[in-house]
Amino acid sequence: MSTLTLTPPLVSKAPNMGTTIFTVMSALATEHKAVNLGQGFPDFPCDPQLLDLVNDAMREGLNQYPPMIGAPPLREAVSKKIAALYDRHYDPLSEITVTAGATQAILTIVLAIVHPGDEVIVLEPCYDSYVPNIELAGGVVVRVPLTPGSFRPDFDKIRAAISPKTRAILINSPHNPSGMIWSKQDMLTLQDILAPTNIVLISDEVYEHMVYAPNQHWSAAHFDGLAARAFIVSSFGKTYHVTGWKIGTVAAPAAYTAEFRKVHQFNVFTVNTPMQHALARFMASPAPYLELPAFYQRKRDLFRQGLAQTQFKLLPSEGTYFQCVDISTLKVPEKNLSEADFCKWLTTDIGVAAIPLSAFYGNGFDQKVIRFCFAKKDETLLSALEKLKRL
Ligand code: PMP
Ligand code: GLN
Repeated sequence: MSTLTLTPPLVSKAPNMGTTIFTVMSALATEHKAVNLGQGFPDFPCDPQLLDLVNDAMREGLNQYPPMIGAPPLREAVSKKIAALYDRHYDPLSEITVTAGATQAILTIVLAIVHPGDEVIVLEPCYDSYVPNIELAGGVVVRVPLTPGSFRPDFDKIRAAISPKTRAILINSPHNPSGMIWSKQDMLTLQDILAPTNIVLISDEVYEHMVYAPNQHWSAAHFDGLAARAFIVSSFGKTYHVTGWKIGTVAAPAAYTAEFRKVHQFNVFTVNTPMQHALARFMASPAPYLELPAFYQRKRDLFRQGLAQTQFKLLPSEGTYFQCVDISTLKVPEKNLSEADFCKWLTTDIGVAAIPLSAFYGNGFDQKVIRFCFAKKDETLLSALEKLKRL
């Protein structure tokens, strides 16, 4: 081979990083024509009015770069929403930034605040991008388990994990994958723990509008002592059934936002213009997000009622569009497989894709629990239930 055509080898920055479980399971579901209750995304359309608003914005000529920090009407709409729901004013100019979804928001926060060697606490099981984000920034991941079974925060363990090197703690309520939510008391306890420290809170609240009665969402924005040290991450994809649009926001005190934007400007610079304007106009009515809990609660209950007639043991789902089940109660021999192999078998042989909880743990901890997504048409859920009942 000529040296001219030789591809020089790379030294991987992430030698142990594979493809995300969501991509793997969705590909397997497509290959085997399985009902995909794995990756979290709706299989129904968004409100057609939202599509019209995008179309309007494009035809009005809103097609060039918006300001680096996001289109003003969208930042203003988000500020108003946070004030109305969580009773805190974020200045649209200096405290709210539009991002390319929550994924980019979280990576950008981590790159902006974590210095090499800084420790960042994550509560496992946790969303699969957190750990690689911290590692790419040169940070040290400190894993604290949520209480097995209930997935509630264990504050003694959180306290014990804090060291002089702790730079940040990343929390996520409503919680993917468990569907657990943090109570007001949980947030107050965290506030007390963080009060004497310089630890930054990264609060991933992408499922803020999916909390089921009688509970409510307790945003970090509600609490003076948390808001003062928090980056709060939201995503329009979850709220408006448009996960592919990849638009989210970060709300944070002006000093934090300034650091965030230094990285953001050389990361994506900006996020697509017409959709930002469409979302801003759509947000004039709070109905879509205020009605979302009832919309998803009905789906959750339909799915749970169906699952109650299978051999799976149901875990609670207080928020998100996820329902976890324990597979150890099944009578099939495959229940002895690892969660990951069980999910593959469920996809290829039973025709329903799910996500193993082990994918959300650094050490692959296997507790015989898998996650289904119920953000699906009723007919999709019923068709999956039909298959699951045959088990
Ligand atoms: N955080 C959590 C907990 C999530 O579940 C997801 C996506 N499902 C994200 C962040 C990423 O959101 P986005 O699609 O807006 O990047
Ligand atoms: N967050 C979604 C989930 O948990 C999927 C997002 C992704 O595919 N990266 O299923």
